[in-house]
Amino acid sequence: MKLQEKILGYRCTICGSELAWDGKDRLTCPHCGEKGILDIVWNYDAIRSRLTRESLAKDGRKSLWRWHQLLPLDGDDFSDLLRAGGSPLYHLKRLGESLGMTELYVKDDAINPTASLKDRASAVAVARARELGCDTIACSSTGNAASSMAGHAARAGLRAVIFVPERAPRGKLAQMLCFGARVISVQGDYRETFELSREAIARHGWYNRNAGINPVMIEGKKTVSLEIAEERGFDPGDWVVCSVGDGCTIGGVYQGFRDLKAIGLIDRIPKILGVQSEGCCPFVDAVREGRDLVPTAENTLADSISVGVPRNPVKALRAVKESQGAWIAVSDADILAAIRRLGSTEGIFSEPAAAAATAALPKALESGIIRPDESVTVINSGSGLKDVVHALAAGGEAFACPPDIEALESSGYVSTR
Ligand SMILES: *Cc1c(COP(=O)(O)O)cnc(C)c1O
Ligand SMILES: [Zn+2]
Repeated sequence: MKLQEKILGYRCTICGSELAWDGKDRLTCPHCGEKGILDIVWNYDAIRSRLTRESLAKDGRKSLWRWHQLLPLDGDDFSDLLRAGGSPLYHLKRLGESLGMTELYVKDDAINPTASLKDRASAVAVARARELGCDTIACSSTGNAASSMAGHAARAGLRAVIFVPERAPRGKLAQMLCFGARVISVQGDYRETFELSREAIARHGWYNRNAGINPVMIEGKKTVSLEIAEERGFDPGDWVVCSVGDGCTIGGVYQGFRDLKAIGLIDRIPKILGVQSEGCCPFVDAVREGRDLVPTAENTLADSISVGVPRNPVKALRAVKESQGAWIAVSDADILAAIRRLGSTEGIFSEPAAAAATAALPKALESGIIRPDESVTVINSGSGLKDVVHALAAGGEAFACPPDIEALESSGYVSTR
């Protein structure tokens, strides 16, 4: 379907103004400026008849392009790009049992081309930049959006210009450099990094992949929910748990379920649990205290969610509120423990920001937010290989052994399970 068939226009999340689709992609509301983040208004009546269980059953693609009717693109197949989406959904029997839960799943989005959920947004952004004839795509990022965008841009033959705070973990930096991006390591925090990217993008007219601002990004990220719903037979369960930095991922998670409900593919939207780190939790604090968000220090080892000034607060708050979900913060120690727990019980590897979602489970059960008999899907948003320093801190020590069988046996290291 062409954009004019599937999109009616945009609606501002601040003032509610509607802008009819006029063939031009928009970033923010002309009345509200920067803060006026837009929703895409979908023509669900037109999409409903084209995107059905039957149409999905016929589509053999195991990538996010199987959802093209719900993506803000003119084309319907971009299989020449990197293959994002189609990540596995696993039932977590062992971890579930250890928590006293019966129905725990993980959507392992570390299994994406550049090893994070950001690939869903980057794939759609790069596809759209190419449709628009842009030759350069730019963003600021705590790390994953950047490494992801760099990979997808390389595959599409586009130039990537990236702004990252100097604290970005080496694994992510290595990816973006090897993908041939122009990488600007900003001597400042993420807020300052974002500001510099904004000025440079405005000056040069590059395609803007900043997830807080460009409404296309949430539409890419929402495909994680579309997949969860489809893989679970169109019953998405009681809860979906995801970690929150800028708020774009959680906004996308909600948007996906909202779309499916609007076109009649699911009957209910799961409650969404937004997870932050205690060292940087502007959403959790604001909701608990019933006030607006305030700039917060970025003080957690979970770099991908170390976001003191979230760029998508409206959509994130709405996701939790309208789904009747909840907010929770976990400590860095909980996060490291969760990396090891998910790894050792299920063989799934998380970077700290992703492990925050798993770390929230014991706390959410204890405080009665989640009941043990509820059906819960945790999103693993990024791979442990992204940040080996913290993975090693979580993993513990290997046994240093001389090359001698007697030394191994007498240590007792391998005689217990
Ligand atoms: C970006 C990211 C998040 C948070 O997504 P936001 O859109 O910034 O809220 C969580 N986990 C990982 C691994 C990420 O890269
Ligand atoms: Zn507005």
